[in-house]
Amino acid sequence: MPIYEYRCDTCGHTFEMIRSVSEGDQGLNCPICKGPKVSRLMSVFSSSQGQNTSSSGTAPSCGPGPFT
Ligand SMILES: [Zn+2]
Repeated sequence: MPIYEYRCDTCGHTFEMIRSVSEGDQGLNCPICKGPKVSRLMSVFSSSQGQNTSSSGTAPSCGPGPFT
């Protein structure tokens, strides 16, 4: 199942939720403020794993880095 990242429109907290496709975004609430208004940010898949930047020399150039 895909992992979706959401941002709470109320408090701005971002969190990840595993949702089935059939469930969609229904019934989601912010885990912090319990607000019902959340926006899906992106889908996170593990397909990009396996290539890390351990071979130094070139900077990673695949878009913005992860939000830590
Ligand atoms: Zn919230």
